[in-house]
This record gives sequence, structure tokens and C-alpha cells, in this order.
Amino acid sequence: MSITPAQLRDLAGRAEALCAEVRALYAGVPAESPERAQLQAAHQAAEWLKRAGEDLQRAAGDLAAFRALQECGFPWGVCPEHGNTLSSKANVTTCRVCGRTWDYDRRGQKCREPVTWKVTDSVGTETLMCDGHVLGARAAMTGATFMRLDADRQ
Ligand SMILES: [Zn+2]
Ligand SMILES: [Zn+2]
Repeated sequence: MSITPAQLRDLAGRAEALCAEVRALYAGVPAESPERAQLQAAHQAAEWLKRAGEDLQRAAGDLAAFRALQECGFPWGVCPEHGNTLSSKANVTTCRVCGRTWDYDRRGQKCREPVTWKVTDSVGTETLMCDGHVLGARAAMTGATFMRLDADRQ
């Protein structure tokens, strides 16, 4: 729940950096040196590190794609762009900012927007939410941290 694709990409970057370091060490040993034969396992380790980096990158992509399919699940709906700006009348919901309408009581229904943010409150409780709900959370939650699930920026 607390893992983000950015964390996986960070680990992947470290695996790639280690791979480059091991390769550089190995390349620094002259081809005619008798020690080169003793370093075959290190040479192989560089390949494993390269594979590990690729696998971590793939996991980051898979996790991001999965999160994009997850629904926000807040018990009330919001405008995906403007948040808590909806008015409902006779089963038509209108955003007071952009004027977008929905032909149902969007405020009265569970939010089905994709999860895009991880919000951690001041005591460490994590909540996943959509773009629209994060707007209200930013206003209401002091001391909380906001992390985009699909990027490194906050
Ligand atoms: Zn709007
Ligand atoms: Zn939402």
C-alpha cells in the first residue's frame, strides 16, 4: 500500500548504478591479467544487476498501471478538476467552477475516479485518492504530505 512506482524506479536506478560500477571495475582489469579469470563471478553479477534494474522498472510500470485502475472510493463525488464544487438539483450535478454536468447525483455516489495521490496525515495514516479529492484534502489537512503515485514530484 505504501510503495510508490517512484520508489521502485529509485531502486532500479541504484541497481543500474551498481551494475555500471561493477562493469567499470571489471573493465579496469587488463585482459591479459591472470586475475581476470578470478573475476568471472563479478562479471556475472553485473549482468544480474542489469536484469534486476530492468525487473524493478517493470514492477514500477505494472504498479502504476494497476493504481490507475483503482477507484478513489470516497463516499461522495467531486469534480475531477475542481474538487468540492458540485451542486445537485433534480438528479443533475453541476460543477460551479467549470460548468461541467453529470446526469445523476454525483455528490451522493461513491467516487469512481482513478487513484493518483497518496496522502499521509500528521500521524502517518495513508489514504489513496483522486485528483479532485486531493484538492479538498490539501485545504483541510494541515501537516499532511502529498505524493503523486506516478511521479517523483509532490
Ligand atoms: Zn469543475
Ligand atoms: Zn475521489
